[in-house]
Amino acid sequence: MEYFQKDIETISRDKLLALQETRLITSLKAAANTPFYAKKYADSGVSTGDITTIDAFRKLPFTTKDDLRLSYPNGMCAIPDEDIVRMHASSGTTGKPTVIFHSAHDIDVWTDLVARSLFMAGMRKRDVFQNMMTYGLFTGGLGLHYGAERLGMMVIPASSGNTKRQIDLMTDFHTTAMHITPSYALHFAEEVVAHGFDPKDLGLKFAVMGAEPYSLATAKKIEAAFGVQVFNCYGLSEMNGPAVAFECPVKNGMHIWEDSYFVEIINPETLKPANPGEKGELVLTTINRTAMPIIRYRTKDLTMLYEETCACGRTHKRIERILGRTDDMLIISGVNVFPSQIEHVLMEIPEVGNNYQIVLTREGHLDKMLVKVELYEKIFKGDLSQLHTIQKKIEHELKSALLISPRVKLTEPGEIPPSTGKAKRVDDQRGSF
Ligand code: ADP
Ligand code: ZN
Repeated sequence: MEYFQKDIETISRDKLLALQETRLITSLKAAANTPFYAKKYADSGVSTGDITTIDAFRKLPFTTKDDLRLSYPNGMCAIPDEDIVRMHASSGTTGKPTVIFHSAHDIDVWTDLVARSLFMAGMRKRDVFQNMMTYGLFTGGLGLHYGAERLGMMVIPASSGNTKRQIDLMTDFHTTAMHITPSYALHFAEEVVAHGFDPKDLGLKFAVMGAEPYSLATAKKIEAAFGVQVFNCYGLSEMNGPAVAFECPVKNGMHIWEDSYFVEIINPETLKPANPGEKGELVLTTINRTAMPIIRYRTKDLTMLYEETCACGRTHKRIERILGRTDDMLIISGVNVFPSQIEHVLMEIPEVGNNYQIVLTREGHLDKMLVKVELYEKIFKGDLSQLHTIQKKIEHELKSALLISPRVKLTEPGEIPPSTGKAKRVDDQRGSF
């Protein structure tokens, strides 16, 4: 068996635990000095100086996405501004993004995690890696890009969309590995056929798939369509991004890189540790990040932990494919959207009445979002060109806040059934895939 970083990937559990304890305490000390955590710990009467063991650590309060929003833009930053070399952002819950900063050390560590993951899947420097994830503030672009380069592959920063160009790049430059969201992969397979090609003739060997949940059946479908091996890649920007956990060739869960993350699974209701092998919410702590240490972050992702050493020889624990979320976050074509963000946008627009509904469908393999918006009676009865202008305005505002383009349908008061009890704002007709 070959490894990219053999010593750390196959480290004994005892040594790994000792390393984690040291790094955990260092990370906690750094965090405790940031304005956000200093206040949080003072408010909850925690003295971090007393925390010297993992057991004591497990009693600290959790961090949530709302905390990140509250500390916007840099309340969680633990290093001088001049030492920050990069930022990324992900969607917040009320329109404000959550921002993550990185030092040169952090980027270096993350790059190693990605390179280690891709190597584990079987990629080598002779491979050509086409990164079909959106570049920009999202982490799937630059994150995988740097790691693939470190492995020595030629990286094609294709970004997402434009099927014909993707096919041309693949055939002209002999791409062997693609990084793609599952929804785009399903769509891409059909488009390749529509362009007169057999996806198997593209010569691909690997598909790294992540950023949104998908079933084993979808993975199998992509494997059959392209004649590739699919590897599941999990991550979230709060914990750097992709390659927090990654499938190995044994394909029995994703190795979660415990030299960088301290892993807990909790019962999301009681907040107590889940029993071994029990499904629960993944809670992660950065233990090798200097710019922005995050302590006990509630990912809201549901999974299970496998603790036994894997047949591949790696000692890092594995998590099951993500089984769901504990909150209402929607993942639409790989982009995180909270219904509250949509509400926030709508409520700033004076013509908008009191009710709205989000309808999610899938056309082919592409997610479509329709936002039905109730207008005030007086306005709805107004002239058509005015209605058209309002519709365009809402579509524009939603697009700039969400980074995806929903369609808007204006309705008159009463057309959307008023809710009794807890409003059901989202009608998700997509089913799982
Ligand atoms: P990304 O750019 O990777 O989508 P975000 O921070 O925007 O990062 O979103 C992270 C969320 O995306 C995770 O909390 C999880 O819900 C979802 N996600 C990422 N990768 C996977 C995966 N492989 N399987 C299921 N869900 C995933
Ligand atoms: Zn393994």
